[in-house]
Amino acid sequence: MTRFDAGPLPPLEELHHDPQRYPEGVAWLDGQYLPVSQAKVSVLDWGFLHSDATYDTVHVSNGAFFRLDDHIARFRASLDRLRLRLPYDETGLRRILHNCVALAGHRNAYVEMLCTRGTSASFSRDPRDADNRLMAFAIPLGSVANEAQMARGLHLAVSDIARIPPQSLDPAIKNYHWLDLVRGLYEAYDRGAENVLLRNIDGDVAEGPGFNVFALVDGTLLTPDTGVLPGITRRTVLEICDEAGLPARAQAVSMKALKGAEEVFITSTAGGVMPVSRIDDEPVGSGRPGPVTARIRERYWAWHKDERFAEPVNYGR
Ligand code: PLP
Repeated sequence: MTRFDAGPLPPLEELHHDPQRYPEGVAWLDGQYLPVSQAKVSVLDWGFLHSDATYDTVHVSNGAFFRLDDHIARFRASLDRLRLRLPYDETGLRRILHNCVALAGHRNAYVEMLCTRGTSASFSRDPRDADNRLMAFAIPLGSVANEAQMARGLHLAVSDIARIPPQSLDPAIKNYHWLDLVRGLYEAYDRGAENVLLRNIDGDVAEGPGFNVFALVDGTLLTPDTGVLPGITRRTVLEICDEAGLPARAQAVSMKALKGAEEVFITSTAGGVMPVSRIDDEPVGSGRPGPVTARIRERYWAWHKDERFAEPVNYGR
């Protein structure tokens, strides 16, 4: 068995030929590897028509996956809860993810695994008739915050749009129900902010488009405990705090606590630990990224070299 054995392999130069200027990357779809620009989904797929899909995103940093086991475990839990079935076992899935990165040749990548309900030949309205579809892709690693925002902190607005409540959709199932988040983003742009935080239906802080949030309140780091995706980066921050003896916990975070916080940062696989310096046009603490945020960010990237969490990409050469 060769290392690249999860489907037929096209020549490398074909995978990098990208006439439409999509991000350079490689996708795996319907049993083959393709340039990411050519990986197309059927218009009849339930994933497209009804957002009936789940996904997970892991990153590769300096040639190694970070916490791949945890991302795969979260993906599998989401699949189970949506009654989606993969045509591959754990080894097959892992191999596809490694192969996408290896074929793309990226040392730093954003790697997504996703499964849609799929299509049924008869266009049946019964989801049990659909053939579930696994896809994956690797593209260059991006970040929620750009370099300038990382240096001076992000400017956020808090929206009045409530995040979809857990009574409607368990947020632990990673999903593409993003209309609340996207509407919130436009509201934030209209108010001169760069990104948005949504609240839960009780009015407490929830999360933003693709990130969790932390607030340093009276020396303790707080992160919302309900109505949010339990992010792997959020978990990493809680574990870093535990190891370093920094008080941190998940609990309800009121708007008052957020607005009075000494420091605020957001967390995501896309960017890690990112400082926030203004909320609703008011400075957070000193108005500059704070020392606790900097310390956690430094530990977060140090943990990427820790063999408990780093899995080197099998580049096959
Ligand atoms: N919250 C939402 C809604 C997300 O979509 C994401 C990631 O995409 C996160 C939080 C952060 O999760 P993670 O740290 O696992 O990337």
